[in-house]
Amino acid sequence: NDYPFENDIDLPLPTELKKHYDVVIIGGGGHGVATAFYLAKYHGITNVAILEKGYLGGGNTARNTAVIRSNYLTSEGVRFYKESVDMFKGLSNEFDFNIMYSSRGQLTLAHTDATIRSFRQRAEVNTHFGGKTELIDPQQIKELVPTLNMNPADMPVLAGLWHMDGATARHDAVAWGYAKGATQRGVELHQLTEVTDVIIENGKAKGVKTNRGTVSCGCIIQAVAGHSSIVAAMAGIKMPITTYPLQAMVTQPVKPFLDPLVSSSALHCYVQQTGRGEIVFGGGSDPYPLYNTRSTLDLKESLLASAVEMFPFMANLKLMRQWSGITDMTSDYSPIMGLSPVENYYLDAGWGTWGFKSTPICGKSMAELVASGGKVPEIIAPFAMDRFDVFRQVNEMGATAASH
Ligand code: FAD
Repeated sequence: NDYPFENDIDLPLPTELKKHYDVVIIGGGGHGVATAFYLAKYHGITNVAILEKGYLGGGNTARNTAVIRSNYLTSEGVRFYKESVDMFKGLSNEFDFNIMYSSRGQLTLAHTDATIRSFRQRAEVNTHFGGKTELIDPQQIKELVPTLNMNPADMPVLAGLWHMDGATARHDAVAWGYAKGATQRGVELHQLTEVTDVIIENGKAKGVKTNRGTVSCGCIIQAVAGHSSIVAAMAGIKMPITTYPLQAMVTQPVKPFLDPLVSSSALHCYVQQTGRGEIVFGGGSDPYPLYNTRSTLDLKESLLASAVEMFPFMANLKLMRQWSGITDMTSDYSPIMGLSPVENYYLDAGWGTWGFKSTPICGKSMAELVASGGKVPEIIAPFAMDRFDVFRQVNEMGATAASH
């Protein structure tokens, strides 16, 4: 067998593309395979093709820093991400496959009074929706993270937003688990299959053209993260999105010293230690729109400076890897989900820097949307694309882990 992606996770080998599928999903990242999984397992819809131009989970799903949390600012956001975090907790069981879910809490630092006020609001909204989030003082922070410099870059830590539901999971395993569950139920995952055009007749999505031929279908879901504007343009849709690179990096492994995830948006930096002892850290997007996954010295220098301010002993560590993904940012830092101007063409887009944590709820709600023939589930209704036309933004800018 000369198929390049033979694997040890029991994915059935792909077949030739069929002429027709009930559902075509463009993008084999976490969101695409999750949608296929819920369609197959909970709605019995299995004549589904996932078309992926590269390999399973090789896009932003492979590149994110795996932060899972629900401590957002708006009611719409918190309710949505809270349900996703709850689903994450049961995923290993759902898949019978270990996603290495690790619940260790997330701490966001406040260096100004204004930040403390916004943290208070976030704690209230989170608690209202059943999340475990509270404002804590410097003494409590020192007890939680004894190695933290309490005066980084001469900005004293005044308080913290302590989100006990904060967690991580192995991002690849999430994609693999969903793909395994979907393909074992009959869904076809076609890697190295790039969608090059969308066929629309009388305002309805009818099929796609790919580098391996043309396929007709009942409906299309696009779940292509950093390529949303490019793919949507094939369907004649203009997305309200600007695309930026986002970088992250990881050090050599060291002894366990940090249990919670720690972030400071004032320092544009968040830090966490993996189960293997490596320290992963990330920051804000690159300052200019670009479609590119190169890493830069600028970001390395500024991010390392902030990380060392937070944890001075990190100055002695070796950096192992630096990488980048392409992120589609909306102006309100919330996603674009649901219907599009084209009938039977559904959007799962605008996932910017925050979409790994929403993978389960996206899959579940996009599957419900498709299975119901286009009835938008209530939980994603606030994220409709037309919110930008009617000034009903869901502003989550203040709740990002690192300012962008
Ligand atoms: P992807 O995994 O990118 O999948 C989309 C797929 O579509 C890709 O595999 C791509 O090859 C495919 N595709 C594109 N065009 C076509 C085409 N024409 N035909 C066929 N296939 C196509 N989120 C969090 O919640 N927590 C974090 O800690 C976090 N950290 C991040 C750190 C970095 C450095 C980056 C880059 C992102 C981070 N994110 C984080 C965001 C998160 O990674 C994404 O929002 C999420 O992975 C999106 O999942 P997806 O399945 O939609 O996209």
